[in-house]
Amino acid sequence: MKAYDGMYIGGAWRPAAGQDVIEVVNPADEQVIGTVPAGTAEDVDAAVRAARAALPAWAATPPAERAARLSALRDVLAARADEIAGTVTAELGSPLKFSQAVHAAVPIAVAGSYAELAATYSFEEKTGNSVVHHEPIGVVAAITPWNYPLHQIVAKVAPALAAGCTVVVKPAEDTPLVARLFADAVHKAGVPAGVFNLVTGLGPVAGQALAEHPGVDLVSFTGSTAVGRRIAAIAAGQVKKVALELGGKSANVILPSADLAKAVNVGVANVMSNSGQTCSAWTRMLVHRDHYDEAVELAATAAAKYGERIGPVVNAKQRDRVRGYIEKGVAEGARLVAGGPESPRETGYFVSPTVFADVTEGMTIAQEEIFGPVLSVLAYEDEEDALRIANGTVYGLAGAVWAGEEAEAVAFARRMETGQVDINGGRFNPLAPFGGYKQSGVGRELGVHGLAEYLQTKSLQF
Ligand code: NAD
Repeated sequence: MKAYDGMYIGGAWRPAAGQDVIEVVNPADEQVIGTVPAGTAEDVDAAVRAARAALPAWAATPPAERAARLSALRDVLAARADEIAGTVTAELGSPLKFSQAVHAAVPIAVAGSYAELAATYSFEEKTGNSVVHHEPIGVVAAITPWNYPLHQIVAKVAPALAAGCTVVVKPAEDTPLVARLFADAVHKAGVPAGVFNLVTGLGPVAGQALAEHPGVDLVSFTGSTAVGRRIAAIAAGQVKKVALELGGKSANVILPSADLAKAVNVGVANVMSNSGQTCSAWTRMLVHRDHYDEAVELAATAAAKYGERIGPVVNAKQRDRVRGYIEKGVAEGARLVAGGPESPRETGYFVSPTVFADVTEGMTIAQEEIFGPVLSVLAYEDEEDALRIANGTVYGLAGAVWAGEEAEAVAFARRMETGQVDINGGRFNPLAPFGGYKQSGVGRELGVHGLAEYLQTKSLQF
């Protein structure tokens, strides 16, 4: 147990304004592993002031120099990859291998991609008798969740710095340690004082103070739809730009011509990875009725294999929430074919990998985001029925389509109301825009589209 001190503000670790702390718990064994200061509006104000003060010089820094700092940041993160993975495993509970392959590796790739984009992006263009300048939007408030704790910070901070913005990050309560590690990395990379600032604290206190601060020009938020809605309302009051990455309830559509075993196995792996705590997880598997029984059997077998390997969910509240959804699924008439609400271990916030069959569209488990290792398998009659079910939620973040021919899958994917679709198991691409249709959010992260979120245009006429 370690008592971590201070907030990273204006290029140094400074004592927090208040005395309150947040306990960080290892969800695998329920032990307190550390405490961090619970920031107040006073800390937030100091951080926003530091970011404002640093803005003019950073905005005027040539993109090549900004790129050099991001490249140095990538290198520091790469050199500390093991420490990052160990920290995420300790505070989030994900198995170490997954922490190494995803929680550490993806942010390194994303930081690298923005080092490259900062160096190559055209911050100026000509149209007719005008020159259009793409200028940094200003001071960015980045409010992030715990499920991919470093990735979600880097997916905001790297493009913001590439654009010439300065940033204040408020990380999730459950995972502040990797955020502190990131602040150290930013420092070591030689990013000027005040360009990046970190305030740990509770959402309704530090998070809200940050979103409400008049010195912030853009709020970039990733988290639940409920909090996203509040943040959008606050921003609207100040006519301030927001970017929202919210929840999802994505469909994995297996067309009759697909390789069924592959589609089901990859689909189950997608839902179970990170203990089901992935906003873009394909938590609804849609199978043609002729292949339904076989798919259910394959899914149950695949899920059972995850029993030993799966990590805990992040905290006791999340475990109880997920178990509540499993109980609701049973109560509403879905058929449990793997897992269930009972805890598989005495200690730690573990949930059994769970698969429901005979799920119908109207059921709660088919509509609401569970954010745990729970898969619902639904049957469809024909392609139109599959499309109707796939599009039949308030969300639209991701999805998958499987078919014998790529063109058939693409034709279906083009009709889906969602921001990302993986075709026949297509791999994650850190350059592809990521974000939601409908209530899954506003704006896009990653790649060039993610950079554009942090820019505004000024046109000069000649
Ligand atoms: P959450 O909304 O409770 O918290 C997210 C962040 O917002 C945290 O830092 C929290 O402290 C802060 N916060 C909470 N209340 C606040 C307030 N009133 N004002 C300002 N900030 C506040 O979400 P969570 O439980 O941490 O994360 C899970 C949710 O995030 C899921 O719904 C998931 O789908 C979503 N998510 C979406 C994406 C995406 O890219 N679309 C990615 C990851 C997670």
